[in-house]
Amino acid sequence: MKKPILIGNWKMNGSLQANQALMVRVLPRLRMFRKSIDLAVCPPYPYLFQVRDLLGYTGIALGAQNASGFVSGAYTGEVSATMLHEMGCRYVLVGHSERRLLFGESSLEVAARYRSVLGAGLTPVLCVGETLDERESDQTGLVIERQLQDVIDKVGLSAMANGIIAYEPVWAIGTGRTATPEQVSWVHQQIRQFIANNTPEASDDISQRLRVIYGGSVKAENAFELFSLADVDGGLIGGASLHADEFGTIAGAL
Ligand code: PGA
Repeated sequence: MKKPILIGNWKMNGSLQANQALMVRVLPRLRMFRKSIDLAVCPPYPYLFQVRDLLGYTGIALGAQNASGFVSGAYTGEVSATMLHEMGCRYVLVGHSERRLLFGESSLEVAARYRSVLGAGLTPVLCVGETLDERESDQTGLVIERQLQDVIDKVGLSAMANGIIAYEPVWAIGTGRTATPEQVSWVHQQIRQFIANNTPEASDDISQRLRVIYGGSVKAENAFELFSLADVDGGLIGGASLHADEFGTIAGAL
């Protein structure tokens, strides 16, 4: 049985005071779920230390929103996966659509970041997803396959089993528009099928073991429906992870 996972992506939000207030409210709401689901929050880099301390021994993990594809050196502004490991992170988001679209991270760069995260002994959460244009021109499957293929080429398929894939349709992120259960199921099945088709030998074990989670305007009202889908192993939550009650309700839906 795969353990479901719920990850809060705070994006570029928070302050020392706001983080403290959020954690004081959210931790009691999450604690009761920590045996049945894996939980993590991804604050901005400067707050990792603070949030690590606030998480203490709750069993809720710390994650980061990105990591460099380089190990160390003259890369101003980058943060290495080894540093994140040292800060106590367990998960790192890689290839979030905001990184790909707003900051021009290519699939090859994403693959390099993914490899660094694995190399540091952390779990990469590879975000994939199509834009509205791509969906409307029937490119969804192709776009996602390409995003997966670049990572597979870089790290090999077996390494994918150590990561998590987050399907996040770009048009559903922060827009209030959620993909329908049918759309989510279809893409999640495509992802598993693609991994299975790529697996040499007779085992499609990796595709079955892999956790594929959904993100994009998950809220208290739609979480139950989305998380009840057979191929959905958890959620990556942006906006709603900043609201203690709502994040607690979403955790309860898993
Ligand atoms: P959202 O963001 O839940 O605010 O749509 C999800 C994400 O970007 O990971």
